[in-house]
Amino acid sequence: MPLLQDHLTRGTSLFPRQTDSGAMMVRVNFPGWEVLLSLKADERTRHIPVVIVSVVEDRARAFGYGAAESLTKPVTREMLVSALDRLAAAPALPAAPAGAARPLVLLAEDNDTNARTFVDFLSARGYEVVLARDGGEAAELAQARRPALVLMDVQMPRVDGIEGMRRIRACPALAGLPIVALTALAMPGDRERCLEAGASAYFAKPVRLKELAEAIGELLLRPPTPGPPTR
Ligand code: MN
Repeated sequence: MPLLQDHLTRGTSLFPRQTDSGAMMVRVNFPGWEVLLSLKADERTRHIPVVIVSVVEDRARAFGYGAAESLTKPVTREMLVSALDRLAAAPALPAAPAGAARPLVLLAEDNDTNARTFVDFLSARGYEVVLARDGGEAAELAQARRPALVLMDVQMPRVDGIEGMRRIRACPALAGLPIVALTALAMPGDRERCLEAGASAYFAKPVRLKELAEAIGELLLRPPTPGPPTR
């Protein structure tokens, strides 16, 4: 496995000479998440397994952003070796473009436990998942990654899901992107508020995963229509 040492400020600083790397280690710190995202957003580097090394454990975010492994400091020799062994044993990912085999779902969820549950669930069902932590990040990632569908938590800090959906719908290219809104507060009028903001479907938490999977399947089969929501 070729070993590369480089000082990164952005993932794009690697281009174009190092896209044949067998794996990549990213020390997370500002702007480590940004480096990971730009690596995963670019079809030249998307296939390179990335190991996140961080002082603060945030596995949900690491995997949500597309990391292959996540290590929390202090990293021992054993941790590193077994992580690299797991990567070497994993089936080689096809070189980009990834194609339509694994539809990309953008998950906007601020709660780690929920994010982990949804990421596991969606990955197991053959979806690729990218994670956003608030509505603003969701709108930016929707533009950068062009997911097939968005799962949007409504209650998030900073920019909530309602505003996130409005920002996505404000982009003409994303007008037909299916958005499933998830809310923990089944308040009267909440559903209408979500639909007005641009949700294609609406679920109150706790979400029954089977129903959610069915709704996602239906939305992905349906040709994108920017018309009025049907549920
Ligand atoms: Mn939340």
